[in-house]
Amino acid sequence: MTALTNKVAIVAGASSGIGYATAKLFAREGAKVVVGARRHAKLNALVAEIAAAGGEAVALAGDVTEEDYAKALVDTATERFGGLDVAFNNVGILGPMGSTTEVSLSDWRNAVDTNLTSAFLGAKYQVPAMVARGGGSLIFTSTFVGHTVGFPGLATYAASKSGLIGLTQALAVEFGQQGVRVNAILPGGTDTEMYREMNTTQEARDFIVSLYPFRRIASPEEIANSVLYLASDASSFTTGSALQVEGGVSINRT
Ligand code: NDP
Repeated sequence: MTALTNKVAIVAGASSGIGYATAKLFAREGAKVVVGARRHAKLNALVAEIAAAGGEAVALAGDVTEEDYAKALVDTATERFGGLDVAFNNVGILGPMGSTTEVSLSDWRNAVDTNLTSAFLGAKYQVPAMVARGGGSLIFTSTFVGHTVGFPGLATYAASKSGLIGLTQALAVEFGQQGVRVNAILPGGTDTEMYREMNTTQEARDFIVSLYPFRRIASPEEIANSVLYLASDASSFTTGSALQVEGGVSINRT
């Protein structure tokens, strides 16, 4: 038996980074996985990689800000694999960076739609599918930014991501009696496209690394291991939590 034997999972934001690593790990642990994001080619490559390793996955490309896509991901899980047990709602963008007084309303709305409204839409369709199975595990990707640490120039990201923690708590108490667990994971700096987009110079990367007790950031695979914990029965008494997997950046003062 592996951690997700006989489970069906959705991983949204699976075309790169943390989502890509998590989808591969879920499949290796026995789950049948529906992988979502906008880039078809990257998703197809992921499905091929999972199949080559003996796993099972199906790709459905789309934009998580659209309600029809949120529903279609759940329909695909149900029609192809018979139901839904785990949903990793991992999509995120940095959104506008820089002085908050210079942020345009449309950039703000786009980031809030992508980071927060997408999670509401995901849960709206995922929860009933899980309740129909007698329970399940929902996971949102938040961040320490805006939760334990304030960073200048990241207000849109911080506000939209910390909103996920409120959503996590509300859903956890609303659907706990129906067997649905809801948790947020709060990664620290992780070596992905997003991290590289934010830290383009060696100087910036050296500064970021200096904030961590380990003097390094995480690999996507390290974050995926903690997502697997929240997805699996190993965390059966954990709900409504904001699990920090941030390498101690929040408490480091050196
Ligand atoms: P990536 O940029 O590699 O991954 C982001 C994923 O989201 C991609 O698969 C992207 O795919 C998808 N995505 C973005 N917008 C949409 C959309 N509108 N509809 C569907 N899919 C979308 O970055 P990470 O792996 O780093 O990020 C994963 C999560 O981790 C994010 O929520 C991020 O905020 C969070 N995080 C990351 C940290 C880091 O240091 N890297 C630290 C803390 C949290 P596509 O472009 O194909 O649509």
